[in-house]
Amino acid sequence: MQVVIDSISAIDTAAKTLTGQAAAYSYHTAVLALGSVTTYFGIEGLDTYSFGIKSQEEIRKLQEHLWKEMSDGSDDEKHYVIIGGGPTGVELAGGLGEYILRLREHFGIKKKKISISLVEAAPRLLPRNTEATSKRARQRLKELGVHVQVNCKVEKQTATELVINGKPLATQTVIWTSGVANAPFYKANEAQFTLNERGKVNVDKHMKAAPHVYVIGDNANTPFAGLAQTALHDAVFVAKHLNGSTKRYTVKSQPSVVPIGEKWAVFEYGKIQFGGRLGGMMRSLADLVGYHDMLPIGWAMKTWRMQGKKQLKLPEKLES
Ligand SMILES: Cc1cc2nc3c(=O)[nH]c(=O)nc-3n(C[C@H](O)[C@H](O)[C@H](O)COP(=O)(O)OP(=O)(O)OC[C@H]3O[C@@H](n4cnc5c(N)ncnc54)[C@H](O)[C@@H]3O)c2cc1C
Repeated sequence: MQVVIDSISAIDTAAKTLTGQAAAYSYHTAVLALGSVTTYFGIEGLDTYSFGIKSQEEIRKLQEHLWKEMSDGSDDEKHYVIIGGGPTGVELAGGLGEYILRLREHFGIKKKKISISLVEAAPRLLPRNTEATSKRARQRLKELGVHVQVNCKVEKQTATELVINGKPLATQTVIWTSGVANAPFYKANEAQFTLNERGKVNVDKHMKAAPHVYVIGDNANTPFAGLAQTALHDAVFVAKHLNGSTKRYTVKSQPSVVPIGEKWAVFEYGKIQFGGRLGGMMRSLADLVGYHDMLPIGWAMKTWRMQGKKQLKLPEKLES
């Protein structure tokens, strides 16, 4: 197998070629799994001032900013605002306070008051989950000292404030976890694909979007696209199809596990729904399964155990 690092910008499904920045590539079969990108829905200032967590580069920038903020020598209260009450925003809100305290301890930074808000436009958190799960998540965040604001629409961001429902809120750290759009490649090559109203690619019963072209994972218009488990399920399906299987694609409903703070998670799979340490254990086991999807069992176990050791004790409250 040859691995090529390049960014593709165009496809010609008739000529069976892909155009990259470095070269053009001809293919017999193409499997496209380009993932999602951040979108700001045109909200002024977010693209300039907010932080994202969708790539290593975005996370590095946020980490640097958090550390600088903690060590600027002032006693000012620091207010962190996370926008988006979906799984990513809820998980981040539950873990950010702990991370900041770890930073303080690690660098010996003197204590300063911090507060964390989670802002969601819908009437409740985790809108794709049940109301019971949503309530559990909100209660857990409250216990961790996170201020949850629902029915709140972000309208604008400047360097020093965020405007929510017409009211300004002073903050220098806004983390945008909302707004996921399909990879722009498909819009740019719209003539070659059929896209749905959200820009996802329609695929047939074998995940083909065009002759000799499969589209999988976040990119495909399937009910559970947007989850890592779905991306793996799709990849396994296409691998089997390429090896001669004639089975049609079946949708696989996925359990939803959202960690909120250390060793705690809400769990939902059909009628089985709960929140607590058992949820945290389920999440931890899911991580092990995820590692084993990519690594031999011994190596997966080692990576999993190391992940457990890195975790620090979660403080009861964020404020010091
Ligand atoms: C912060 C965050 C937390 C998440 N947490 C969870 C979770 O807990 N559980 C869960 O199930 N899912 C989670 N997800 C979603 C999950 O990560 C995705 O559903 C999954 O990664 C999708 O897999 P994929 O293979 O379709 O795309 P990706 O994993 O996004 O991979 C796409 C790859 O294609 C590359 N690419 C893009 N465009 C081009 C181009 N033009 N040319 C070449 N390469 C290109 C990208 O650089 C990327 O490496 C999370 C996502 C985020 C952002």
